[in-house]
Amino acid sequence: MTSQPIPPPRSTERGSDTDCRESLTELYGFLDGELTVERRSMIRGHLEACNGCLETYDFEAELRLVVSTCCREKELPPGLKDRVAQVLRELPEAP
Ligand SMILES: [Zn+2]
Repeated sequence: MTSQPIPPPRSTERGSDTDCRESLTELYGFLDGELTVERRSMIRGHLEACNGCLETYDFEAELRLVVSTCCREKELPPGLKDRVAQVLRELPEAP
């Protein structure tokens, strides 16, 4: 009798939803260089494995580049941060 429950597959290819949420939550800190080395390497590892988050990271990094170039000495336009946060929230789930 083999009635052992089958353990759920451990995917190393793709992060779990929690990984994605955590990575996206810390994306700002990652881009700002505010995270510890440990957190950074964790998120970088996730970005390498997860296309959905990598795209978000690219988008965010590019956005920051544009903002830092255009508004070097200004505050972010009001609402921009909210809009970005909203985009992040509305991201489709990773396939
Ligand atoms: Zn992810």
